[in-house]
Amino acid sequence: MQVFIGIGANLGDAKATVGKAIAALAQVPDTTLVAQSALFGSAPIDSSGDDYVNAVAELDTSLSATTLLLHLQAIELAHGRERPYRNAPRTLDLDLLLYGAQEIHTADLQVPHPRMTERAFVLLPLLQLAADISIPGKGHAQDFVAAVAGQRIQELACGCLRK
Ligand code: ADP
Ligand code: MG
Repeated sequence: MQVFIGIGANLGDAKATVGKAIAALAQVPDTTLVAQSALFGSAPIDSSGDDYVNAVAELDTSLSATTLLLHLQAIELAHGRERPYRNAPRTLDLDLLLYGAQEIHTADLQVPHPRMTERAFVLLPLLQLAADISIPGKGHAQDFVAAVAGQRIQELACGCLRK
């Protein structure tokens, strides 16, 4: 299954955390790291603190979405994520953006990630990896870019594992 993971960090050495997160994603069982976007810096939305560092990773996995989410949460915890309050600054946030073309609506998992079309820091790195990608139930990712043009974001560095 082709899946895309949204990665965000804004505490401590956020660039290094994103790099470690990508390395950890590559170690998830029954899963291959296919590609990673560049790193982006973005202003916090509904949150506080320093700018976020964001990236998107493409994986090929035979894990179920639920099992993959458990691995994502374990990686978040391994990087010291604490959640004192909603939208608090966090060491590491890993979101399951897309799981193939599936739509999943359970108590623990909403896929596609419900806010991904509203966030430049998701859309721009995602489109680097998959310019033609469609978001199930929503349409082409590219069609949502104009609406997020006001969000401050800049590319930081080459991820250097492009397809
Ligand atoms: P957000 O990433 O939306 O800013 P959080 O990371 O704090 O918020 O939310 C984590 C919770 O979101 C988890 O309890 C998880 O069960 C739930 N969740 C629902 N859908 C997803 C998804 N697609 N990816 C990651 N977590 C999800
Ligand atoms: Mg999250």
